Amino acid sequence: MKKLLVRGARQLITLHGPKGPRRGMDTRELGLIQDGSILVSDGLVTCAGPTRRIENLAEARSAMEVDATGRVVLPGFVDCHTHLVGGVSRLADYETRIAGADYHQISEAGGGILSSIRPVRELSSKHLEWRARHDVGTMLRHGTTSIEAKSGYGLDETGELKSLRVAVALDGRPLDIVSTYLGAHAVPPEYAGRSDDYIDWICAQMLPLIHRRKLARFVDVACDGAAFNARQARRYLEAAKALDFGLRIHAEQFSHCGGIHLAVELGAASADHLVFADAADIDLLAQSGTIATLIPGAVLHLGLDRYPPARALLDRGAAVALATGFNPGTSPTLSMPMVLSLACTRMHMTPAEALTAATINAAHAVGLEDRTGSLEPGKQADLVIYDVPDYREIPYHFGVNLVHTVVKRGEIVYQRAGVKWADQ
Ligand SMILES: [Zn+2]
Repeated sequence: MKKLLVRGARQLITLHGPKGPRRGMDTRELGLIQDGSILVSDGLVTCAGPTRRIENLAEARSAMEVDATGRVVLPGFVDCHTHLVGGVSRLADYETRIAGADYHQISEAGGGILSSIRPVRELSSKHLEWRARHDVGTMLRHGTTSIEAKSGYGLDETGELKSLRVAVALDGRPLDIVSTYLGAHAVPPEYAGRSDDYIDWICAQMLPLIHRRKLARFVDVACDGAAFNARQARRYLEAAKALDFGLRIHAEQFSHCGGIHLAVELGAASADHLVFADAADIDLLAQSGTIATLIPGAVLHLGLDRYPPARALLDRGAAVALATGFNPGTSPTLSMPMVLSLACTRMHMTPAEALTAATINAAHAVGLEDRTGSLEPGKQADLVIYDVPDYREIPYHFGVNLVHTVVKRGEIVYQRAGVKWADQ
């Protein structure tokens, strides 16, 4: 039996707590143990507690030891909204936006989502997998140990199946990857002006095919003025629900389109973005099991000022999660610590609320709550050691990667190399 003892953390944050996603004041309860240690056996947490108790356990004596003295230990981040297989960087869009164009002007000029379709359709599976694997490595070095990965840049049958297969092939190497079919991301050029026909085709062909081949656990739709309206989103999500897919939705990102109402009515696992959520939407979410997933990186990268109403969502009792929303157009970041900084500074979440949103609540948003998101007996030992003495330093130092060691299922998968002169 392979054992690991992570010993002597100045702060061990377990997120130990009630079974469901955390709401209200529970969102601030981190299960923090001062001078804590954690014992791992065969990839799973055996126990976590004060160092004095854990180090005296008989099983701890034969364990390989990882010294966390003076540092912070957290559950690995769960990045619950990524477009992992998103093709290539959109650097021309970036420069056009800097010069003053907005998201819709860029799309109309041939940039935006549609400019990502060609590369995803043309690149081989091997090349797409190579790119995704590279991005997974960067996520891991920033403390992420599980992600959700959407398709949605192929849009035809071959492109979408290829994207989903890449996500499925990378699952467990070493991140847990939950695959989502986002066929209703944009209307592809071959269906230009015929969005209803495109939804018909998805419902008749793609959903049953992906279900048969078990290539996705969830489906997602962009419910937005420039993509699909609420009527089309409903048709698509109802067809997916009938096949037992879990549901997710891009809702109220650029305008108010009714996506949150639909998500709650259909029992979606998550409604994402929510920048234009109004008071009635916030109350609906607070009374539902749908997680409010916020993506502040997209607001930052688009150069906008309006952030999602995190404070109102938390204060009214909604379960809030955070994600990078990693994609080449609106949020090309792979860094959850940076997302935490934005959540705290721009959305007025406390550091404790942001940590909960990025771990246990995010795990609930993608159906991984039984195996990850907190450091409790029986769950995977997915943990990250940060080179700081207090967890609040993680969002405080925005844009700085303070990850020291990453452990996935009890294995050390990343350890930062020291800088010779600085670490002496
Ligand atoms: Zn997205």
